[in-house]
Amino acid sequence: MVTVEERYEHLEKTIRGYNISADLNQIRAAYEYAREHHGEQMRRDGTPFVTHPINVAQIVAEMRLDSESIIAALLHDCVEDTDCTYEDIAKRFGVTVADIVDGVTKLTRVKYSTMEEEQMENLRKMLFAMSRDIRVILIKIADRLHNMRTMEYQTPAKQKKKSFETMEIYAPIAHRLGLAKIKWELEDLSLQYLDPVAYSEITKKLAADSVQHDQFMSRIQEEISARLAEENIPHATVYGRVKHPYSIYRKMYLQEKTMEELYDLFAFRALVDTVPDCYNVLGVIHDIYKPILGRFKDYIATPKPNMYQSLHTTVIGEEGIPFEVQIRTYDMHAINEYGVAAHWKYKQGIKKEGGEGAYEWIRRLLENQEDTDAEEFIHSLKVDLFSDEVFVFTPRGDVVNLPAGATPIDFAYSIHSAIGNTMVGAKVNGRMVGFDYQLHNGDVVEINTAKSAHGPSRDWMKIAKSSEARSKIRQWFKRERREENIAQGRASFESELKHIGLTMAQITASDVLPSILKRVSFPSLDEMYAAIGYGGLTAQKAANRVRDELLHINRAAAMVKAAEEAAARAAQEAKEAKAAQEAKSNLPRKVKSEKGIVVEGLSNCLVKFSKCCTPVPGDEIVGFITRGYGVSVHRKDCPNAQPDHHVEANQGRWIKVSWSDDIRDSYSTSLEVVCKDRSGLLVDISTAMSTCKINVNGMNVHTTADGFAIFHLTISVADSKQLEQVMRKIHQISNVMKVNRPAG
Ligand code: MN
Repeated sequence: MVTVEERYEHLEKTIRGYNISADLNQIRAAYEYAREHHGEQMRRDGTPFVTHPINVAQIVAEMRLDSESIIAALLHDCVEDTDCTYEDIAKRFGVTVADIVDGVTKLTRVKYSTMEEEQMENLRKMLFAMSRDIRVILIKIADRLHNMRTMEYQTPAKQKKKSFETMEIYAPIAHRLGLAKIKWELEDLSLQYLDPVAYSEITKKLAADSVQHDQFMSRIQEEISARLAEENIPHATVYGRVKHPYSIYRKMYLQEKTMEELYDLFAFRALVDTVPDCYNVLGVIHDIYKPILGRFKDYIATPKPNMYQSLHTTVIGEEGIPFEVQIRTYDMHAINEYGVAAHWKYKQGIKKEGGEGAYEWIRRLLENQEDTDAEEFIHSLKVDLFSDEVFVFTPRGDVVNLPAGATPIDFAYSIHSAIGNTMVGAKVNGRMVGFDYQLHNGDVVEINTAKSAHGPSRDWMKIAKSSEARSKIRQWFKRERREENIAQGRASFESELKHIGLTMAQITASDVLPSILKRVSFPSLDEMYAAIGYGGLTAQKAANRVRDELLHINRAAAMVKAAEEAAARAAQEAKEAKAAQEAKSNLPRKVKSEKGIVVEGLSNCLVKFSKCCTPVPGDEIVGFITRGYGVSVHRKDCPNAQPDHHVEANQGRWIKVSWSDDIRDSYSTSLEVVCKDRSGLLVDISTAMSTCKINVNGMNVHTTADGFAIFHLTISVADSKQLEQVMRKIHQISNVMKVNRPAG
C-alpha cells in the first residue's frame, strides 16, 4: 500500500524531472487544499478520495504540462464534489486556475444521455468548443484515464456506460490531440469492458506467445541495429513491440481475420537524429526485408492532421512473418507521443508560461492540415465547424446545439415550441438575462415560463438566430392571431400597392381577381393578408406578383384585340388588293419581321419558336398568341397546333404567320435518330452532320435494354431543305432505322 503522502511525493518528483521552475509551493498548497476539502470522502476501491486528483495530476505531469495545469488537476473535483466555490479557488490560486477547474467541472456535468453517432460528434465538438483553454480538455482526459484505470470497482452497468463514452468521445479526442499513448490506453481499457470475451482472448494469446514474440522481436531488432551501424547511421535506437489489444481487435474485426492472419501484429521503431537519416533507414530496411506493396506511408512529407510524423512500411522477414517498421526522428517521436501537449511545452520557452491562449492551439492544429490524408482531413474539419455553432446545457445537463450568436429565444424554441411561446424570462448560469443575450459555450440556460404569458412578440423574429425558432414564432402568429394578422397584412399590402401605383379596385374586379389569387396561390385575399401578417410572405412580394399578373392579363387582352383588328384589316386589304390587282400587277409588301417571322397584321411583336416542334424556314407554320409571352410559332403538322386541339376559348388566339424575306442564317431545331446500336454510330452521325456543314449544339444518347440507341440532336440549320438533306444523309447510315423531327 502506498500512502497518500508517498503518492504526492512521486508526483513532485515527476514534476521536478521536467520543469525546474515549477511552483512547488503552490502545488503543495493545492494538494493540501484538496485533501482538506475532500476530507473523509472515499473512492470505491477503499482509498481516500484525494488519491484520485493526485493520480490525475500525475498523468498531467507525464504530459509535461505547466504548474497551473498541475494545480488545476489537483483541484479539479473540488467545486463538483465539495463545498468550495469558484471564488474560493480564484482567491487562493488565481483566476486562471479557477477558470480551468470551472471548465473541467462543466465538462464533468455533461450528460451523455443519447447514444447516437450524431450526438457523439456533437459532444466531441462541444468538448473542444467548451475548452477555451486546451488545458481543460487535457485535464479532463487525464481524469477519464484515471477513472478508467480504476473502473474495476464500479458496477457492470457503469463500466459499460463509461467505457462506451470513453471509446466514442475521449479516445477520439485524445487521437485528435495526438496523445497516442493515452489514446491506446483508453481504448484498451474500454475494450476490456465492452467486449470482455474478445479482450481476454487477445490478451491470453499474447501472453501465451510472449516468449516466442520476445525472441522474434529481439532477433529483428539486432538485425536492424547491426545493419544501421554498418551503414554509419548515428544515434539510431531500434525497438520492437506487440501492437495494442484494441488495435489487434479492430483489425481482426474489420478484416475478419484471426490473430495469426493479421499483418503487423508487431511494430518496430527506429528513432534517428535527422529526416535524411529516416529515409536512409527506410532504404536499409527495404534492403534487408521484402516490403509489402502498397503499405508504405510517408507521414513525414505529409503529416497527419494531429501533427503525427513518421515513415511507415510493412515488410516480411525470413520466417515469412510480416511486421511494421515506423521510422522517425527523436523530435517527431516526442510530438507523436505527447501530441499537442509536447508542442505546447516547446512554445512555453518562447512565451510566458501558459501565456498563449490555449484556444490558439486547436485553431493552429486545424490550420495545419493541408495535403493530409483526405479522410483524416474531413474528420478533423468537423471540429472546425464549431466556429458557427454554440453548445449550451439544459438545467438537466443535456447538450443543446445552436447556431453561433443564438439567444435564449432560440434555446427555448429548440426545446419545444410551447416553451418558447410561454417564455417570460431567461436565466443563464443562474442570472437573469435579456432575451437578446448571446449564449456562450457551456452556458447553463434556464427558461421561465408562465401560462399567462402573452406569447412571442414580433421583435423576437429579429432577435432569433435559428430558422427553427423563427419558423415556430411565425407558426404561432399564424395560428393565434388571425384577425390581427389579416388587419395588419391588409394595411401593409394596401400601402405597398399604393406605392407601385395600383388601387384595390383594379384588383378586386371580378374578371381579374380569380387569376390574381391563382398567381399568389391563396384561396382568398384574407388568406393572403393573414400570411403577410404573420410574416410568411412580404407585402412587397405580394404586391409585385399582383402587378405582374395584371400586366399579363392586360397584355394578352391587347394582343387578342390587335389580332382581331388585324384580321379585319387583312380582309379589307385583301379586298382592296384584289381590286388593285385587277388594275395592275401587285408588288409583294415588305414587312418588318421578328426572327424572320411575319405575324399577320402585327409588327414588332414578340415571337418565339415552340420547343415541341422547332420549326425551320420552309416548314408550314402557324402562330398562337400566348398569355403575355408573345406569339409562339408551331409547325402546322405539330400535334399541339391541330384544330381539334384548339380549345373553344382559344380559337381567337390562333393566327396566320409566315416566313419573311429577311430570315436569319440558322435556326435551332431537334432531331431524333433511332438505331440498332453498334459501335461507331456516333462517329458516323457526326460525320454526316459535318458533310452537310451543320452545327451540332447538343447531343444526347440513351440505349435501351433490347439493343436500341436513341440519339437526340439539337442542331442549327438554314431551312427545311438543308434539314431534309441531312435527315436523308443520316438515314443512309447503316443500322439507322428512323430519323424523326420530334413534335408535340
Ligand atoms: Mn475526477
